[in-house]
Amino acid sequence: MLRCAWCMKKIRDEKPVFGLSVKFAEGIEYSESEGMIIQIGLHSRNTSVPMIVTARESKAKLQGTDGIFALCSEKCGVKMRDTLTKELSTFREIKDISLQ
Ligand SMILES: [Zn+2]
Repeated sequence: MLRCAWCMKKIRDEKPVFGLSVKFAEGIEYSESEGMIIQIGLHSRNTSVPMIVTARESKAKLQGTDGIFALCSEKCGVKMRDTLTKELSTFREIKDISLQ
């Protein structure tokens, strides 16, 4: 079961899941964790949150997405995006929040 990367609530199967796609900064790579959920550190929040690393041949990866944060609501997505834009050492591009 997925957890919201912002509020950490479990996202039940029947509930909509929002995704926030990101591109990693230069030199950041999680190729060993492709297709898996890893904990990624957020310096500005002093915590780690779950992130899905896109698999090499996946549609998302081919569209330039390196990682996806799962979120329970658009509200959490907006807060997450605000935080990620401060994490410049890890992310160089934060894309739109989309319904998955
Ligand atoms: Zn949430």
